[in-house]
Amino acid sequence: MSKNKYDVIIVGGGISGCAVAWKLSRYNLDVLLLEKDPDVATGTTKANTAIIHAGYNADPNKQKGRLNTKGNVQIKDIVKDLSVPFEEIGSLVVGMEGDDLSVLDELLEKGKKNGVEGLEIVDREWIIENEPHINRDVKAALWAPTAGIITPWEFALAMAENAVANGVEVKLETEVLDVYTEADKVKGVKTNQGDFAADYVVNAAGLYADEVAKMVGVEKIDIHPRKGEYYIYDHAKDFEINHVLFPIPTKISKGIVCTPTVEHNLLIGPTSDFVDSKEDLATTTEGLNKVFNGAQKMFPELTLKDSIRVFAGLRAADTTEDFVIEAAENVHGFINVAGIQSPGLSSAPAIADLAAELLSEQGLELKEKKNVIEKREEPARFYEISNEERAAYAEEDKEYGQIICRCETVSLKEIKDAINGPIPARTVNAVKRRTRAGAGRCQGGFCGPRVTQIIADELGIKPTEVRLEKDNSNIVEHKIKGLLGSQGDAE
Ligand SMILES: Cc1cc2nc3c(=O)[nH]c(=O)nc-3n(C[C@H](O)[C@H](O)[C@H](O)COP(=O)(O)OP(=O)(O)OC[C@H]3O[C@@H](n4cnc5c(N)ncnc54)[C@H](O)[C@@H]3O)c2cc1C
Repeated sequence: MSKNKYDVIIVGGGISGCAVAWKLSRYNLDVLLLEKDPDVATGTTKANTAIIHAGYNADPNKQKGRLNTKGNVQIKDIVKDLSVPFEEIGSLVVGMEGDDLSVLDELLEKGKKNGVEGLEIVDREWIIENEPHINRDVKAALWAPTAGIITPWEFALAMAENAVANGVEVKLETEVLDVYTEADKVKGVKTNQGDFAADYVVNAAGLYADEVAKMVGVEKIDIHPRKGEYYIYDHAKDFEINHVLFPIPTKISKGIVCTPTVEHNLLIGPTSDFVDSKEDLATTTEGLNKVFNGAQKMFPELTLKDSIRVFAGLRAADTTEDFVIEAAENVHGFINVAGIQSPGLSSAPAIADLAAELLSEQGLELKEKKNVIEKREEPARFYEISNEERAAYAEEDKEYGQIICRCETVSLKEIKDAINGPIPARTVNAVKRRTRAGAGRCQGGFCGPRVTQIIADELGIKPTEVRLEKDNSNIVEHKIKGLLGSQGDAE
């Protein structure tokens, strides 16, 4: 049941807000996480390169540099506790020109200052042996064995679910419209679902963190969206790559990366171009050409034959090009977790630690809870298990035997569990993030209508009310050839 008053309200359910919620759920506190969209992880957290960076790239004098390496180390334990798909496959920054080698040395030095372990410069033979399809012009590379790949939205969801298990409340479709203050102290928030009182507010609103900060008069945060475009490939592709491969970085970007995903797709991208709108997620011919040409430089055999989708994400870049994690100077109890561009995913637990430290400095008592639930139960993942294992599940419950998504082998039971989970999936994309239904080669062409019907049945709504993601993204307008049954009729 909802309370009238909370100790802490967190604004935004991306990786930053979910990590803060997870961290605070370890203490005797009443915590409320508010997210304006129908699911967690619908912002930048769902559209990025999904790398847990080792930490050699960020400036040691910036918050980014200090928090990346710390987060990288913490994540290795968290993914085990929370059953998040993660693989520590290591990364290579690849030099192909003579001048590149000095950049590799600089990165090595920066990495050492940031405390990154295991870094070394490897030669052409090492690289070709470990990445047989790479461009033969390669000269040397910086090898970072501690880098890894993760499913970013599941990382956020897992932390949010574990926070809920430990008493945090999550309210979706609840947009913070204003922050109440009295005598320069936080008093609560105004939302589209009513008012909630709290002594502390953590602003983790991603691209909108500058606008939430302005609600208490903090003007210094200035977010400019910087777009990154991508191609993603099917599992069945011409060749595998084994590590995360970066070109030599530029001043503002790590360049076009080629990386496997944890689910064995190939991901190439991103571009790095400032755009005017915080909602501009359109892909462009120019951007996608840049991505493909960049990736082909690394892997000359690469074609677009097996690419199955393009997408874009927006970096929430503050003008300082650093994270802005600090207490507001003018209002007591307001903490900004803003400007969280890359490596935000890699730094998330360290960002949460810092936010908790700042809250404590502002007077919040962090008294450890007894009997914290540390583990999250691993959901069934039909896409990655053998037929024998699938058959065993189906023995247990026959809905595991009904495959809804053929490309990724997702069963009816997994979809129903997602819809009825601790943070229920209410949209088609929320089901996709939790189960992979629709993430395969046909991109939901076959399973989309069935997933829509299952959501409608489970939530007791009409198929015409089922959304893809956010408001006004309804998938069907009226009944099509009887596929959606009588509930699909338009009124
Ligand atoms: C192209 C690209 C590549 C990247 N690659 C990597 C990578 O490989 N590794 C890495 O470590 N990092 C990477 N990043 C960075 C990483 O994705 C981000 O740092 C991270 O996802 C930011 O998370 P967040 O929670 O701060 O923001 P978001 O995920 O955007 O979450 C903010 C949330 O706040 C909600 N919100 C906003 N306003 C309100 C309001 N008024 N009321 C309620 N809710 C509100 C939004 O709906 C959203 O869900 C990349 C980013 C991009 C764009």
